[in-house]
Amino acid sequence: MDKNQQQLINQFPILKQKINKFPLVYLDNAATTQKPQVVIDALVDYYTNFNSNIHRGVHKLSQKATEAHEQARITVKDFIKASSSKEIVFTKGTTDSINLLAFSLGESMLKENDEIIVTELEHHSNIVPWQMLCERKNVKLKVIPVNDEGELLLDEYANLLNERTKIVAVGHVSNALGTINPIQEIIDLAHQYKALVLIDGAQAIAHIPVNVQELDCDFYAFSGHKMYAPMGIGVLYGKKHLLEQIQPYQGGGEMIESVTFEKTTYNELPFKFEAGTPNVEGVLGLEAAIHFLLKEDLNQLSKFESEVLNYATEQLNKISRVKIIGNAAKKASVLSFLIDGIHPYDAGTILDQLGIAVRTGNHCAEPIMNRLGIRGTIRASFAAYNTKEEVDRLVAAIHKTIDMFG
Ligand code: PLP
Repeated sequence: MDKNQQQLINQFPILKQKINKFPLVYLDNAATTQKPQVVIDALVDYYTNFNSNIHRGVHKLSQKATEAHEQARITVKDFIKASSSKEIVFTKGTTDSINLLAFSLGESMLKENDEIIVTELEHHSNIVPWQMLCERKNVKLKVIPVNDEGELLLDEYANLLNERTKIVAVGHVSNALGTINPIQEIIDLAHQYKALVLIDGAQAIAHIPVNVQELDCDFYAFSGHKMYAPMGIGVLYGKKHLLEQIQPYQGGGEMIESVTFEKTTYNELPFKFEAGTPNVEGVLGLEAAIHFLLKEDLNQLSKFESEVLNYATEQLNKISRVKIIGNAAKKASVLSFLIDGIHPYDAGTILDQLGIAVRTGNHCAEPIMNRLGIRGTIRASFAAYNTKEEVDRLVAAIHKTIDMFG
């Protein structure tokens, strides 16, 4: 193993433990990543030294917490190369970001017979909020299909677009199959029809450097907990002029400028979208995770991950009873597979007994499972701390599972 990678692994205290007497092999990173010590320390520091509600206090602790919270917004802005921190809305996570957007865009900009395009690969969080909007506003949902490898059919996409298309909502990386979608082409084509584009970046943000200005996406959503940060914090990036045009999602707390019983006026961006006491600890943890990613170098981390993904793909392809599901030419950090004759749940249970954490089921992506004619898969998903030695453990455990089930 690379010395740099060992130094990286050492920063994750949870990885040192044993599960069922075996050293833990954590391969459920698409569900949530583990947290490095610097992120844990950021939370402890906040609660030990300056816990306080923000934006409204004149006292020292409140000022310190407010400053740290707003500095973290600048860190996020710089990380995704947004043009202003007003474009960074803190949310609970990707699901919350997409629900916010679907509600606010729907109320402000959509009318009957407009159209929204999603893809067959989406996580339920990037389907259901749009479906709810379609029902509310009598808008039509259209779906970009995939080929058998799990790649989007761009010709079909081009045929779905027309002057009624108002929103295109696409995942950057598929959580079920690992496909990296050609989001640049998707954005550029949508803009030819003046449609707005949301990228669901939940599975990309920890693996691929994102530059929202270069991409020219209108909105980009992600969760902290899938990028080494705490749960309960996420981001919705939106172009400033668009966020200014759409109405808030929730009322109360920090989102107001003035309230009377006759009329309420809303706060400026991004506070207009941040009702209630924010998740200050989460925001500080997110900032610590971004510093961690920058210090370790995201490009270097992605390199570790692709080496492990390629090695795992090669090794699993050698096992005759294993079938890899999703063989897109461009993939990131997710390896979905089936073992002939063994239910994914049973395989997952045996792997757990051997200290290996994988996910089984439909991965909140039922439509792609239906398209591929399967109920679910076993999913190994990698982070920068996973190693080829861990892949060897996975391979040995798969052989053992096959032996046990005959
Ligand atoms: N989108 C994708 C592609 C995901 O993988 C996930 C979670 O697995 C989500 C959205 C939802 O993220 P969260 O549960 O953090 O809101």
